[in-house]
Formats: sequence, C-alpha cells, structure tokens
Amino acid sequence: MSDALLPGAWLGMLGGGQLGRMAVHAAQSLGYRVAVLEPDPASPAGAAADWHLQAAYTDPQALAELAKACGAVSTEFENVPAQVLDTLAASLPVAPAGAAVAVCQDRALEKAHFAKSGVPCAPHAVLCTPADLDAVPDALLPGILKTATMGYDGKGQRRVRSREELRAAFAELGGVRCVLEALLPLAAELSVIVARGRDGAMVTLPAQRNWHVGGILATTVVPATGIDPALIAQAEASARAIADAFGYVGVLCTEFFVLADGRLLANEMAPRPHNSGHHSINACTVSQFELQVRAMAGLPLGTPRLHSPAVMLNLLGDLWFDAQGAQREPDWPGVLALPGVHLHLYGKTEPRRARKMGHLTVTAGSQPEALAVARQVAARLG
Ligand code: ADP
Ligand code: MG
Repeated sequence: MSDALLPGAWLGMLGGGQLGRMAVHAAQSLGYRVAVLEPDPASPAGAAADWHLQAAYTDPQALAELAKACGAVSTEFENVPAQVLDTLAASLPVAPAGAAVAVCQDRALEKAHFAKSGVPCAPHAVLCTPADLDAVPDALLPGILKTATMGYDGKGQRRVRSREELRAAFAELGGVRCVLEALLPLAAELSVIVARGRDGAMVTLPAQRNWHVGGILATTVVPATGIDPALIAQAEASARAIADAFGYVGVLCTEFFVLADGRLLANEMAPRPHNSGHHSINACTVSQFELQVRAMAGLPLGTPRLHSPAVMLNLLGDLWFDAQGAQREPDWPGVLALPGVHLHLYGKTEPRRARKMGHLTVTAGSQPEALAVARQVAARLG
C-alpha cells in the first residue's frame, strides 16, 4: 500500500452526474478533495465538488489542469471518450483504464469480453450494414435491436418481431452499428458490483435483484431473494471473472438475466458504480462509491457486507407531476416519517419524465419489513 494516495489529496472525477455526486460525497467523507470536470454549469457532482472545472471532457487545457491538481482520476460517465482516460494515464493513476471503458461503451465488444471471460450472454449478431440483416438467423427473432454505442435506460432499443420490423428499426436507429439479441424469457434480473484494486484484490457486494419498468431500473431488492442461491453464487463468480479478465481497477457492475429455464446470462456492464448499487450507501458497511474511491486511491477495499436488508426505489421526474400533469413537490415529510427511509436527491432543478431525480433506500431488520415500508413509500409518493 506504499503507493496509496492518502486522504487530504485531490481526486479527479470525469462527469458531473449523480454517480459523480455520490462519489464526491464518499471521497469527502474520507477526507479527500475532489475536482469534477463537467461542461454543464449546474450539475449534481459539480455542485458538490471542492472544485468544478467547467469544460468539455476533451478540453486539453482542462485535462492538463486536472492532471496537475489530482493524484488519481476516475469517471462516472460511461461515454467519456476512452482516449481522454489514456491521455490522463500518462501522468497519473486512472481507474478504470481507457481500454476497459472502451469495451463497456460498445455492446459488441462487451459481448466478446463476456465470451473471453467464459461467461455466457444472449444469442446475438452484430449488424453494420443493411446487407447484414439478411444473414440474421431466424433464432434471433423476435429480438431486441440495440445500438452498439450510446444506449442507456432503454434508449436506442427497438423490439422487432420480423425481418420487416428489423429492417425498419435498423433504419429508424439511423443505420448505425447495432447488436440484435434474441428476446429472452426473463425470470429475473440480477446485478453484481465488483471492486478490484491495483493489486488485483477483489471484493463483491451481495447480488442485487432488479425490476425495470419501460427499460429503466425501478426497484432493487437486496438480498436477492426468490432466486436459487447457486445462481447467485454463479453471478458473483462470473462478475469477478469478468473484472479479472481485463485486469480491471475500480468498480464494475455486471447485469445478468435469469432465464425461465434457470440459465444465467450476462447482459451488460458499467465501468463505474451503478444505479442498482445505490442501496449500498445505507445498507452496506462499505458503499459502492467508497469502493470506487478506495480503488482509485490504491487503498484497501475493506470487507463490504450487507448489514440490513434493503429496497431501493428510483425517484423519476414523473413523481413531480400530478394526474393532470401539473407540477408538484412529492410528499417528502410523509415519506420521511416512515421508518428506515433514506432519501437521496441529486439537486436537479428541472423534473422531467423518466429523468432520475433521486432515489430512496428503505432499510429494515427484515426483508418483509423493508418491502412493507417500500409499499407505503410508493403509496405516499403516488
Ligand atoms: P440499458 O443500457 O438501457 O440498460 P439493457 O440492455 O440493459 O440496456 O436493456 C434494458 C432492459 O431491457 C433490461 O434490463 C431488460 O429488462 C430488457 N432487455 C434487454 N435485453 C433483453 C433481451 N435480450 N431479452 C429480454 N429483455 C431484455
Ligand atoms: Mg441495463
């Protein structure tokens, strides 16, 4: 640990969203100061940072300033150009590395990485040109067409039942490189957060069970009950294998599908803390954000463990509108009156439908209690 960057030093974060904001909080709580590089003048992480460098992620002068001030850099934004991470890595520790981020930015490379890690994923084909559509095997229909890059929260995806629909969807997505996946019968969705240190040491948080609505994460429940424990162990081992296969440093989240026939397939990964790990702030002894800070600083990762069953509810902008479409403020006092409620709002001033405004974690002595309070929360927010 002799090369660890100690508290009091400056850490750099590329990206100003809520993931950066929560990482800033974790870093500051450990005594670090944080510089956030983010072009938006009013960003969640920029507002919390000790220093907000307001410039484009590729601005050479801003990157030079960041490298001069900081002892290590990480990213909270998946689509930061991987090249930028490589440039910074010439002068200071960067976690995760540009090469790993580049893989996570591209669904085709991501699937190749799963194969390399010995972890199965959905049957799929990579489609670059309209001619590739003809070669698609029947087994991939019905399917989901996903743009290879830049998709998130269900954006850049189209469900297709036939070759005609595939052709139309490919054109509608702009004719860009895509991955077509077979539409799978999902019994459940899981995710696993792994942190890997510079020395190759790895820790995982207990697998999360996730429910999506309209392609966006709605609810996470931990522990992941209702799923065969052997599958959970398999997901955790797979997540470690995936991180190890690129010598990853930092926090990596892998999403998994559990199929109706009991098979486990990797879906996608994020080279950073993940929405499904937000419960860890309140329910784990070391949160995913603290793990990110520890990993980038070269500190021991600790022994994260779940200390309370938890239910995490995402708070989308929709909650800020009543049935008539008029804007309103959700009933925070009513929600905070319930036991074990931890409210996290990201400081975004403009609520928009489907926009992640915050999240809320319910912790309790037992999972049924946490679920019961989560239902009361939903009723008070409804
Ligand atoms: P995003 O980057 O938007 O999170 P995902 O690939 O994770 O994209 O897809 C979002 C959600 O859509 C998944 O969590 C799952 O609920 C559903 N989904 C994605 N791919 C498939 C598939 N091949 N079969 C069935 N459902 C899928
Ligand atoms: Mg996803």
